[in-house]
Amino acid sequence: MIIGKIHSLESFGTVDGPGIRFVTFLQGCPLRCAYCHNPDTWCVDADVKYQWTPRQLFDEVMRYKSFIKSGGVTLTGGEPLMQPDFCREFFRLCREAGVHTAIDTAGSVLNEKTLSVLDFTDLVLLDIKALQPELCKKVCGSEGRNTLRFLDELEQRGIETWIRHVVVPGLTDDDRLLDELFEYVSRYKVVSKIEWLPYHTMGVFKYKDLGLNYPLEGVEPLSSERIKEIRKRQIDKGED
Ligand code: SF4
Repeated sequence: MIIGKIHSLESFGTVDGPGIRFVTFLQGCPLRCAYCHNPDTWCVDADVKYQWTPRQLFDEVMRYKSFIKSGGVTLTGGEPLMQPDFCREFFRLCREAGVHTAIDTAGSVLNEKTLSVLDFTDLVLLDIKALQPELCKKVCGSEGRNTLRFLDELEQRGIETWIRHVVVPGLTDDDRLLDELFEYVSRYKVVSKIEWLPYHTMGVFKYKDLGLNYPLEGVEPLSSERIKEIRKRQIDKGED
């Protein structure tokens, strides 16, 4: 029997894919992003509130069917692809019921099982931490090569993809790096949107609760002016 380890549920999500969505945060992540605001999702063996089969999660989602009819479901985390069997079976049930499926992933776990989840996935929100291996390692502890291979797989399979990138002062907040990323992902036909997300400090309290040091101590959140400037610059580039 497949049992998913679920960190938390959000029945009216509006930022993780189109429309109103039932968002499920799965437990477990192999990365250690310096800015992570969900360190409580890292450990896949943690004792969590919900340990459900895909059918149990699906039944819960169906209680909100009328609210999510113009949206769908999103699996996020943590890294949802740490639990590929659960993701695949849950998405299969959603597909069967005509519910739009999206997964928010960094694409860092790349194998046959994780790729098989894509058979039932309508949209991928792909988090690219950085294109440059050394910088990526600084940001998340991994060189990020699997993420780029994952994007190639999405292109081959023709799965709609939104790119997400967190802009962090002192790490990735650099026009040249952002332009390179924009140009790199713009070559992919499946990429329909790029989301530039500002670094924020809303999860810092969790580090204290978990007895962990916060790697970006003292780094100020990215200002709203700066993120607007970045978004405008990239929109203008796209219209060139
Ligand atoms: S991939 Fe997401 S959950 Fe994992 S460490 Fe990075 S920000 Fe946190």
